[in-house]
Amino acid sequence: MRMVLSSKTSTLSTMIPSLYDGTTGKIRVTDTKESCQAAARPDVDPAYQNYCVQCQLDYMHHSTERTYVLPIEPVAAEKAERVTDDIETGVALNGVRLDGPAPREAILGAHTLAPFDDCGGHINLHVGYHYHAAMGCSANVASAAGHAPIIGFAMDGYKLHARVNIDGKEPTDLDQCRGHDVKGLGYHYHANEPGKNAILPCHTGQTGCSNIGNETDCDATKRPKRRPPPRG
Ligand SMILES: [Zn+2]
Ligand SMILES: [Zn+2]
Repeated sequence: MRMVLSSKTSTLSTMIPSLYDGTTGKIRVTDTKESCQAAARPDVDPAYQNYCVQCQLDYMHHSTERTYVLPIEPVAAEKAERVTDDIETGVALNGVRLDGPAPREAILGAHTLAPFDDCGGHINLHVGYHYHAAMGCSANVASAAGHAPIIGFAMDGYKLHARVNIDGKEPTDLDQCRGHDVKGLGYHYHANEPGKNAILPCHTGQTGCSNIGNETDCDATKRPKRRPPPRG
C-alpha cells in the first residue's frame, strides 16, 4: 500500500508548533538560566513549550552537594514501593543522583525534550546533574567473580550492580524490582536497560532520604517504618 502524505504534512507543519523555527530552521533551545528555569520543571511555562531543554550547571545558585541517609543494614519492606518521577532511585558511586523515571507525561504534554548526555544524565535547577539511566559512566567496584560490578546504592541501602554480568548477560532470576539474593553477596539490584526510563522500577526495602545543601528535611529517624515481611 502506498500512502501520499506530502500535501497534508506541509499543511500540518504550519499549524503545529515545532521544536524548531520554521523560517530559520533553528532548534528552539533554552539557552539562558531564566528559560531553563521555566522549562525544566513539570509545569512547563507555556512560553517554553516545544523547546529543547538544556541547562548549565552554573545556572544553579545553590550548592549541589547532597547528603544521603541510607540504611547501612537494609530492611525489607512489607511491600515493594514503586520508584516514581518524584522519588530518587539512589546514588551512584561517583556521587551522581540516580533519579527516578523522567516525567513522560509532562514531557509529552508540553513537547519539551531535555536530552541526556552519553552518560544518561542531564541538569535541572532543582537537583542539579542526575542520571536517568545507567550507561557505565559511574565508578564501579568489582563484585564476585563473573558478577556485574557494583555501581551505586539504592535508596533502601541495597547495592546496585551494573545491568549485565561479565558474560554480557542479565541474571535470569531477578524479581519485579530487579533484585535477587545471591549466596555470598546478599540481596542486591541490577540496573535496568537505559530505554526503560527507570534505573530501578521499585524498592523492596525501607527507603532512606537525602538533603540538598543545608536542607534538613531528611531525618531518617522520622521516616515511617514499614514492617518487614514475616520470616518463614
Ligand atoms: Zn532529569
Ligand atoms: Zn546480582
